[in-house]
Amino acid sequence: MTSEAAGSGRVGVYPGTFDPITKGHIDIIRRASKTVDRLVVAVARNAGKGPLFSLDERVEMVRDEIDDILAQNRSDGFHGTIEVKPFGSLLMHFAEEQGASVIIRGLRAVSDFEYEFQMAGMNARLNPRIETLFLMASDRYQFISSRFVKEIGRLGGPITEFVTARIAERVMNRFDRDPSQAGQAKQTGPFGD
Ligand code: ADP
Repeated sequence: MTSEAAGSGRVGVYPGTFDPITKGHIDIIRRASKTVDRLVVAVARNAGKGPLFSLDERVEMVRDEIDDILAQNRSDGFHGTIEVKPFGSLLMHFAEEQGASVIIRGLRAVSDFEYEFQMAGMNARLNPRIETLFLMASDRYQFISSRFVKEIGRLGGPITEFVTARIAERVMNRFDRDPSQAGQAKQTGPFGD
């Protein structure tokens, strides 16, 4: 099914584990959502990675962040839609089902490159009609990774620089840490604060 067949304009899929969603992911979602008419944030089951949060929790956490992104987009004059969906199948099959013409990935440092390069190459072989588009987060969010957010949270360090206050609270609760250790109470949103 093509994006035209889906009748919803240009569709992009942004897949990831989002364990948990960080300000880096949010920055990529915001940028990606301005390049397509419908963005599907695809939360991978990824049982092999042993996620801290269940698939349902990760989907819910991403959904909780979308309203703020949409509100900001509307005030910037962008009217595309953003959906959040779980997936456990082959990414290319999922992307075809969604009528996507692009897969969006975020690129951080050199360390991401080799893995992303291989994934994009393999996916292009599986379906040459779907392009992979790489976006960079703003420099203040580029270094953020879910892995280190979990590591810092597990040790009771401050994480509100890297995730929103609602996500920080969930991470601290998951590690039986006092949520007040997560950082300043001020909501450091991903938009120009
Ligand atoms: P995956 O297990 O698929 O790598 P992640 O949730 O770790 O899932 O990442 C999803 C995508 O978001 C990947 O393309 C990753 O490179 C990108 N990404 C994650 N954090 C950042 C960030 N801080 N800046 C830019 N891209 C990021």
